[in-house]
Amino acid sequence: MLPRAPGTIPIELRNGARVKRANVAPQGVYLPNYNVLTPNMRSPEYVQMSTAAAITLGIMSGRMYRCECTRCLNLLLTYPEGCRANCAYCGLARHREAERDYADRNFIRVDWPAVPLAQVIDKVAADGAASPFHRMCISMITHPRSDEDTRAVLKAWTDRIDPSAIPVSILSNPTTMTRADVVALKELGADIFTVALDAATPEIFERTRGKGVGSPHSWAKYWEILLHARDVFGPQKFGAHIIVGMGETEYDVLALVQKLVDLGGHSHLFCFFPEKGSLMDHLPPTPRDQWRRVQLARYLIDYRGVRVEHMRFDEAGRVIDYGIPTSELDAVIEAGVAFRTSGCPGKFAEDISACDRPYGDSPPSDIASYPFAPSKGDLRRIRRQLGLAPKR
Ligand code: SF4
Repeated sequence: MLPRAPGTIPIELRNGARVKRANVAPQGVYLPNYNVLTPNMRSPEYVQMSTAAAITLGIMSGRMYRCECTRCLNLLLTYPEGCRANCAYCGLARHREAERDYADRNFIRVDWPAVPLAQVIDKVAADGAASPFHRMCISMITHPRSDEDTRAVLKAWTDRIDPSAIPVSILSNPTTMTRADVVALKELGADIFTVALDAATPEIFERTRGKGVGSPHSWAKYWEILLHARDVFGPQKFGAHIIVGMGETEYDVLALVQKLVDLGGHSHLFCFFPEKGSLMDHLPPTPRDQWRRVQLARYLIDYRGVRVEHMRFDEAGRVIDYGIPTSELDAVIEAGVAFRTSGCPGKFAEDISACDRPYGDSPPSDIASYPFAPSKGDLRRIRRQLGLAPKR
């Protein structure tokens, strides 16, 4: 799972120069379109949001396969310079500067329209208790202004929207952060703080988002901020993202999941998908049998008190025993929650993520993370993927 090497960006295309040179004034909502000049949009006045959030908010038309809406309003900071990091699996990475303006880049398989923050807040405030959203999440990126602007977006939101009605999560960017930044976000009303470790081991981290691809991140700095988050936000209020299928073993992921649980936090899993335009777009998505085993085992560790030491693994680090009796395992599989998208909780249940990210890690034809409760037919397919006999 080796990333391609990033190419050299001509100097005249670096740092969002094309967008800043043209300096087109934004007018309301901007739908990604790389055939027109991208307006000069900046947070905190502008934010980007997932296509699912834009459809749910009613600023984009469209329908999602088997989903009515998303329960999480993901807001992504935006600047013409974009994210200054270069993570190999990410559609937002800096190496794409020559090819596509930042606000036009695909990220977790979808476009991210840009919207004035005031318009977003007006709409959610007007919907009041009828809002479909169970949570809002601010996604920081690696940019010199991202700490200050995250605070500005959070403050603008909590000034108008009660954070106990729609709690706020922070998807942080540890590279530019200090403990004081973590404290400030808590004091401004953030509910959950997450760190996108993404890589399950230090070696994969270095290869995919550290020096290996000319990116500024370090495993040690990510852990430093994660541990601050544990102190400041407290148990069950911090977590880490992990991408499954970037060359680690199943045991590597599950040992990390266990470590996070032992610290008092949660893990949010993503199935590796070769994002178009990324430095890993030539690599295969995670085989479904591997993904399902890790999803199931992670759910048992996070929510059913099973420990990684109770499980058994083969010599390749694959799960061969989940550490609980077959009848209990069957009941967990049949409940289906283990195979839904994992993330910060909404209003349905502690183990059901508000952040459902429809088709963020797979196409609808071969769903990895189910953004809804899997049907009987889905569960039959999941059992096949797990190599289990059909349920009678
Ligand atoms: S820091 Fe986040 S947004 Fe930036 S390239 Fe890495 S994964 Fe993508």
